[in-house]
Amino acid sequence: MPELPEVQTIASDLDDIVGGRRIIQAAVAYPKIVAGDSRRFVDFVSGAKIEKVERFGKWIRFGLAGPAGPAAMLAHLKMTGQFQLGAWPEEGRAWPAHCHAAFQLSGLPPGQDALFYRDIRKFGRLRAFDPGELEEFLRALAQGPDPLTVSPDEFHRRLSARRGRLKAVLLDQGCVSGLGNIYVDESLFAAGLSPLAAADSLSRAETDLLLKEARRILKAAIEARGSTTSNYKGLKGGGSFQLAHQVYGRAGEPCPKCGAALTRRVVAGRTTHYCPHCQKVSAK
Ligand SMILES: [Zn+2]
Repeated sequence: MPELPEVQTIASDLDDIVGGRRIIQAAVAYPKIVAGDSRRFVDFVSGAKIEKVERFGKWIRFGLAGPAGPAAMLAHLKMTGQFQLGAWPEEGRAWPAHCHAAFQLSGLPPGQDALFYRDIRKFGRLRAFDPGELEEFLRALAQGPDPLTVSPDEFHRRLSARRGRLKAVLLDQGCVSGLGNIYVDESLFAAGLSPLAAADSLSRAETDLLLKEARRILKAAIEARGSTTSNYKGLKGGGSFQLAHQVYGRAGEPCPKCGAALTRRVVAGRTTHYCPHCQKVSAK
């Protein structure tokens, strides 16, 4: 699943390539890929101008100026969602494989004039909102702050207020938003904290260090266009941060800090990679 750096890369690529363009028409081939009524969705986005594409948490937000006023389209890619360019599927023309929604855009060359939403496993969703609906949706979503901008005070307060293991709490998008399995494992290793520690047991110095390391890693990963695992791809290609992973996917290899064998076990339902020597649960 794409996490903060990958979603950031996808959103930046989209903003560069489709930002400022008008959606001439839209089509949905698989109605369930749209939350709510897919015909309303098509009516809603057709004719709108894409003003800005941005990431928030692991969501992509398309700011739209529609014929009926401001609007937004949100996309969550879940496991295998992607955006790609291609030829607008004229009546009778086959759609590219695994593509479920298409947006014909102004000012792009023929053959590359449509933005497609592609999703092999079909867990991702597209949604369109007017401002009132968006506000309501965001309130119900109750997503936590972004790790790149949350203050150290707020980060400490949020972790201290949560029961549960550190790994589970950091994956919870209601605590902070944007982190997933890879970047939680990498951040915990960098900060020398056990994924099994109780989130509310961390000292202020520990949460400060964790936030600092998480930011350093996320920024380096954004710089590298994210980690290319099986399903991630931006419009301008994949990323290379997987080459910089210290623990993720490296069980059995020597720890880069101490040389002990890295281990993995399931924590919070996710395969978790860590060094059992450098990341002990503190005994304080
Ligand atoms: Zn170690």
